[in-house]
Amino acid sequence: MITIRFTNLPGDGIGPEVMSVALKVLETLGLRNGFSLQTSEYDIGGIGIDRHGSALPDSTLSACQEADAILFGSVGGPKWESLPPTEQPERAALLPIRKAFELFANLRPGNLYPELADLSPLRPSTVAKGIDVLCVRELTGGIYFGLPKSRETLANGEERSIDTMVYKTSEIERITEIAVKAASLREKKICSVDKANVLETSVLWRKVVSECIQRLDPTIESTHMYVDNAAMQLVRDPNQFDVILTENMFGDILSDELAVICGSLGMLASASLGTGKNSLGHSFGLYEPAGGTAPDIAGKNLANPCAQVLSAALMLRYSFGMEKEASAIESAVKQTIRDGFRSVDISSGSEFVGTDEMGEAIIDRLPA
Ligand code: NAD
Repeated sequence: MITIRFTNLPGDGIGPEVMSVALKVLETLGLRNGFSLQTSEYDIGGIGIDRHGSALPDSTLSACQEADAILFGSVGGPKWESLPPTEQPERAALLPIRKAFELFANLRPGNLYPELADLSPLRPSTVAKGIDVLCVRELTGGIYFGLPKSRETLANGEERSIDTMVYKTSEIERITEIAVKAASLREKKICSVDKANVLETSVLWRKVVSECIQRLDPTIESTHMYVDNAAMQLVRDPNQFDVILTENMFGDILSDELAVICGSLGMLASASLGTGKNSLGHSFGLYEPAGGTAPDIAGKNLANPCAQVLSAALMLRYSFGMEKEASAIESAVKQTIRDGFRSVDISSGSEFVGTDEMGEAIIDRLPA
């Protein structure tokens, strides 16, 4: 019997409600498919501040270091908004955890099931068959972290600021490897997005991505696209893409564009993979819903648990190498939607069910 070891960090707001559903889904699937969970809950975010005086308590960090993966809820809320910005839950918990585990690869699946096509702001004919695109974003390099980064007042009194976009071959290679692995589980198509007509870093990006894909898996169909065109193509015809591979800032923007065309935050999962391998030789990763703590609906049994459940599926896929089990969860969520179950965020004003009922419907649709 395989045991999967991960910490679960529900966090604040709707975090505990949706985490509880995701854990039940994993437990049920494990019982039916011969694996067991070894997981403990730790405080993070606002609840960490309240109970331990820190958004990322030492006990939480060391538990994560002992584990093979982190299943994360979300952090923050009005209660902690008056704290200084650097002490607020999101900044004081997520940024240090990303740094501690060198989470350099962010995977954001953009999935819209055909049954939910009316949630998308895109034309019905464009999304009639749904959307299925994966955005792979480099998360620790580029212009957000490059040095020098400065602000100064010039002799004439004008102010001047500098940000630096910088990439090394090794940084581009390691994110390309992740994209190749992800594409090999999908349609084996990678579109690398850059601005090689203007930026030196993009010229290097394009060269290294091409060489790396060729070396790792020449059967992958790879293309390159300028970022301005990619932003247009995503709204014109999102399904021309399978995997989008891009650097930090372009990925920040394109992954949010992808999220909005998919309609609801409550359906979108994400994975952030680190440089280290876990005890099973797979990527160490942090898995979390794309949305936040949804304070407007927290504690009311109204949250959509699908994003958290789908994050658990990503954890099985990337940190435990359990592709069959990950797909089983994704199919159960898909079937739940197909069978008409809707949480409030995806109900388009008609009847809806609560978090618990949505969770039970997903569990009922797991393979026997
Ligand atoms: P949000 O994502 O929490 O909410 C935006 C809207 O989406 C709300 O109407 C909310 O009800 C809805 N929504 C989000 N997830 C949902 C779900 N699973 N089911 C149903 N509806 C859902 O964004 P916000 O309001 O800008 O932020 C609220 C708090 O969350 C803030 O404190 C923010 O800092 C924090 N936040 C945390 C993370 C994180 O932990 N990674 C990410 C984003 C925001």
